[in-house]
Amino acid sequence: MNDLNVSRTTDPLALHRALTTVDSHIDIPWPTGPDPFQDGARRVDLPKMRRGGIGTGFFAAYVPQVRRDAASETAAFERALAMLTAIRGMGRTEETISARVTDTADDIVRAKQNGVVGVALAVENGFAIGTDLSRLAQFRKLGARYLTLTHNGHNALADSAIPRPDLGDAPVEHGGLSELGVAAIGELNRLGMLVDVAHVSRDAMLQAAKASKTPVVSTHSCVRALCDHPRNMDDFQLDALRDCGGVIQITAVAGFLRPGGKADKVTVADFVDHIDYAARRIGFAHVGIGSDFDGGGGFSGWRSAAESANLTVELVSRGYSEEEVAGLWGENFLRVMRLAEAAAA
Ligand SMILES: [Zn+2]
Repeated sequence: MNDLNVSRTTDPLALHRALTTVDSHIDIPWPTGPDPFQDGARRVDLPKMRRGGIGTGFFAAYVPQVRRDAASETAAFERALAMLTAIRGMGRTEETISARVTDTADDIVRAKQNGVVGVALAVENGFAIGTDLSRLAQFRKLGARYLTLTHNGHNALADSAIPRPDLGDAPVEHGGLSELGVAAIGELNRLGMLVDVAHVSRDAMLQAAKASKTPVVSTHSCVRALCDHPRNMDDFQLDALRDCGGVIQITAVAGFLRPGGKADKVTVADFVDHIDYAARRIGFAHVGIGSDFDGGGGFSGWRSAAESANLTVELVSRGYSEEEVAGLWGENFLRVMRLAEAAAA
């Protein structure tokens, strides 16, 4: 399937360099932050992506949940537009580094072939559309390829895995998805955007997997059997994800990897344990990697994009095949992107 051109006795670093690697969830500093072309304080900048062999990163226009009213919804929408525009601005060449905005799965593969860093876009928190579904098309126009339905706190589309009593949240508001949330999924399908179920409640996740015409993804979550946290997926959810053809992108958040986990204590082995568990339960085709760097991700051994090859070293040492590693690092996510592209109206 993959002509990776590496020897059978896998050299993990050579394999890592040959892969089309995709990190499915990265945050950006806002409203301002270090220049992405400089190797600075960010866990992900373009020099670190180059050093760490990350082909394409999905950068999220994240809007925090606040109390819902017309003014706060407009502000959230405008913030998301401004963030998407800023992320698009990363697609340029400076000195020795070239970055390019990627829109489709093929664009991501081509960026890798051309030696150009891929910059892909997403919106995190459906609160960014308020109750106006037409805003989704505007996000798509700016290149967004997925919408994370909620963040922490319920919104008009769905219940969150982590309600916010400080914002007036009851434990459950919609019982999963709202009617508007179901309609939003229909619009996402029409636009070729993926439905990201990271952050939504268990019921909302299961309903989204059924409501979406194309497979849903969690761009940054871990597994509950190894770490009982509401942001993680239990076995029933993992099975539902497999049944719809989706992927869970295991994330680098220490507290999701180990109960009470601290970043300096959690290791690459802990991270790969979650990959192992999910892959054994639902198959390698349904598992991937999304760091949540600059949004809470990062632990000893994978503190920044520059250290990404450490994951490949651990995967190879556990005997994963080149095809499996290629799937985990991007091919699985690209498969779901292609399905969404093919189904778009
Ligand atoms: Zn998140």
